[in-house]
Amino acid sequence: VNIGILGAGQLARMMVLAGRAMGLEFRTLDPKEDSSVGDLCERCVEPYESPAALEWLREGADVVTFDFENVPTRVLHELAQQLPVRPGAAALEATQDRLHEKQLMQRLGIPVAPFRAVETRAELTSAIQELGLPLILKTRRGGYDGKGQVLLREAGDAGKYWDTIAGVPLIAEGFVSFEREISIVAVRGVDGDTRFYRIGENVHDSGILWISRCRPNDPSQAEAESIAASLMAELDYVGVITLEFFETPGGLLVNEFAPRVHNSGHWSIEGSVTSQFENHLRAICGLPLGSTRPLGLSAMLNLVGELPPRGALLEVPGSHVHYYGKRPRRGRKLGHVTVQAESERELERRIARLQSRIVPPGGRRELPRPEEPRRA
Ligand code: AMP
Repeated sequence: VNIGILGAGQLARMMVLAGRAMGLEFRTLDPKEDSSVGDLCERCVEPYESPAALEWLREGADVVTFDFENVPTRVLHELAQQLPVRPGAAALEATQDRLHEKQLMQRLGIPVAPFRAVETRAELTSAIQELGLPLILKTRRGGYDGKGQVLLREAGDAGKYWDTIAGVPLIAEGFVSFEREISIVAVRGVDGDTRFYRIGENVHDSGILWISRCRPNDPSQAEAESIAASLMAELDYVGVITLEFFETPGGLLVNEFAPRVHNSGHWSIEGSVTSQFENHLRAICGLPLGSTRPLGLSAMLNLVGELPPRGALLEVPGSHVHYYGKRPRRGRKLGHVTVQAESERELERRIARLQSRIVPPGGRRELPRPEEPRRA
């Protein structure tokens, strides 16, 4: 089977690495020269809308998928006239606009943070009155990893930050004082067969995922599965999907979903019977899905901005490194390390050892300098 991927980032790279073992062939289309796929498969560096590039993708593919969310949906609709595009344009459309995404959840009876659409200063003022403070103002389109959003803590902040974010459609969200951030990766086949990975418990730093721990017996597993199942059924979904939640004393609220494999599911590469990448490929190719059963206890740490020497990480037992072949840049995801252990205590010890060797996504914290002794 030949697979066309729109996007050639690290998620495409990991799909290709998983699929090549099964003898699948790939080609990618991405406007950026600096890809993570490198020479692993045929690739075309052209805009997504380029007719010649789309023709090239179509010729060499039996099915098309994508590795990131900002592919123009028009392109998916056009490709879908000739070959299966999985997951389909409906899922992508819903996630490209935070307002539509929240409205879809509401329609399905899935709890989300209270929200209001905001385009003018007057609408922001009434959103603050109705939702209260603190409040998060986000761009409806294009934001990720905490980009394109500001936190308004007090009334004066509206004036202070309005100019930095206004000019595009916005969504105001009530601030959720959550206890944990968790996510679930699920996969649904062409025949509707649905499997769920164990919940990931996620820790962010500067808005970027830092550590994700797989939770084999999490009390929120069943609730997360049932929300994911209703969303997948609504979208007649095929492939891997990821839902991110805020866990509150009153239950789970969906923050957002991604119609693709996800950073918080990378632990599954070594930590489950079938990785999220292999299962995504099985699903979109119409093949039987693999078991999502976890193998022991696992976690994943992101390598952002700079890469430690491989040996420094591999010294920690149970660890595996994944480097994406990208040029280092501040705030850029360059790789990740997965780590496994037989007991929670041992896993935490290994995570701590890895943490001491990795710069967190927000950069190294400067220790506060002791005050200079003052001369009289
Ligand atoms: P997002 O880009 O929507 O995933 O937001 C990035 C991060 O900001 C999340 O992982 C949360 O830690 C935080 N955040 C986003 N929305 C809210 C909210 N409504 N209440 C509290 N924290 C939020």
